[in-house]
Amino acid sequence: MDKAAQAELDRINALPTVTLKDKMAIPPQRGAELPHREYRTTMDESTKTMSLAQARLEASRCMDCKKPFCTAACPISMPIPQYLKLLAGGNIEGAVEMIRATSLLPSICSRVCPHEKQCQSSCAMGRTLKDMNKGIHMGETERFCMDYEREHMGGKKVPAMAPSTGKKVAVIGSGPAGFSAAVDLRTLGHDVTIFEAYDLLGGVLRYGIPQFRLPKDIVDYEYSILPKMGIEIKTGVTIGKDITIEQLKKDFDAIFIGNGAAQALKTGVPGEDLKGVYTAEEYLKKGNRGVEIESGKRVIVVGGGNVAMDAARMAFRLGAEDVRVVYRRTLNEMPACKAELREILNEGVVVMELHNPAEFIADENGHVKQAKLDLFQLGEPDEAGRPRPVKIEGQSETIDCETVVLAIGSRVSSEIKDTTPGLDTNRNGTYIVRAEDSCETSVDGVFVGGDAKHGPLTVVMAMKTGRDAAVQIHKALVG
Ligand code: FAD
Repeated sequence: MDKAAQAELDRINALPTVTLKDKMAIPPQRGAELPHREYRTTMDESTKTMSLAQARLEASRCMDCKKPFCTAACPISMPIPQYLKLLAGGNIEGAVEMIRATSLLPSICSRVCPHEKQCQSSCAMGRTLKDMNKGIHMGETERFCMDYEREHMGGKKVPAMAPSTGKKVAVIGSGPAGFSAAVDLRTLGHDVTIFEAYDLLGGVLRYGIPQFRLPKDIVDYEYSILPKMGIEIKTGVTIGKDITIEQLKKDFDAIFIGNGAAQALKTGVPGEDLKGVYTAEEYLKKGNRGVEIESGKRVIVVGGGNVAMDAARMAFRLGAEDVRVVYRRTLNEMPACKAELREILNEGVVVMELHNPAEFIADENGHVKQAKLDLFQLGEPDEAGRPRPVKIEGQSETIDCETVVLAIGSRVSSEIKDTTPGLDTNRNGTYIVRAEDSCETSVDGVFVGGDAKHGPLTVVMAMKTGRDAAVQIHKALVG
């Protein structure tokens, strides 16, 4: 693959001028994939990083649009055509610097951002070729650059920091929102302490997104700058249980809440508390950490989002032979990214469309042994325009299983709100802010970002709103 890419790159580079027609003729490049049935039993990353020749060739396909739609579609406005130009020309270090100037977590975002819904979905090359799968694979080119930084450029550099302002900020949570707020606040000269409930940093990056999509040494790599920047880290401390916001306010000039939205929702279906029935959060957390978890040969995953896709793939890696995703609408309405859906189907997961659990049935030891599923059909559209799932009365099916994983959504947990007078939240637990673009909560000096602000979204959005909050905190502290 690399030889072919190198030959094509040499041919393109030898042309006196590269026309649009030449660019359109370059075959789209992708990192190699292992055979799906082989890798579904390993925790190793399931796709490989592109080679140098492939990355440069892929970057050469960029049409260098005057008004780049890809940058406009990126929540952090990455200057994609500019770094692709540097990469295509062989200036990898320049490309890395340009990416780093915009993003605090590029090794992670390049692997997990929903590119097919953001930058790549707007790529002019994809539009020109009338196939968005043939848009520039910008996640993969970014991943190449960041792997290059790790392997050939001496690693991630510690950003320059402004002189001390003498102000102290407490950051609650160490997911992408807390990480980004902490780094930006420290860069602006504030003293920063991160309080994290778990024993390791990273939030969903560490405990939720599986190792086979986001290796944990990549999380360690990005997070390694925190102590180097002099950011104090207190793990194993839950704000709202071990310390309250009121207490923190005595020691800190401002507080950032980035506690995410990882409290699992339950179905309310009889039997959901049986042994062998897990929430996706618990199942993925244990799987990611290599903690022993009882997971059977036949696993049912309930839900149709990306978390359900991750849980289904994790099930194979925990020893399952038969994995079924139960979803009450059809594949067409599934909220999961198409790429994630493709992965589970390639790995052999069966999707049971138009089914939803009615009951989980126990064996004599109180362990789940079967799921009774109601059958559904599509009805009139709901407020969001999606056809409603309508139960077909009297029709159900019962299937055997040893494990059930519930992946039907999550919300912000309440321990911080419950212990902080005057801290207002919405019905889904997200914190009410003072205006749409404000990150300040109803309590003076307490700011919020990430999923705790906008509900469960994406890593890049959590990073963005963590950074927005840092700017607003800085303004509040030093004017
Ligand atoms: P989190 O990442 O949830 O971090 C919150 C942190 O706060 C945690 O470390 C938590 O332990 C800590 N905390 C909570 N309460 C307290 C407290 N009271 N005191 C102290 N610390 C506390 N997004 C993508 O872009 N791409 C993906 O592929 C993707 N896959 C996902 C897969 C799964 C399984 C899940 C669950 C989510 C996925 N997401 C994905 C969504 C993305 O991970 C989240 O939107 C993002 O992590 C939110 O960042 P955050 O910093 O707001 O919160």
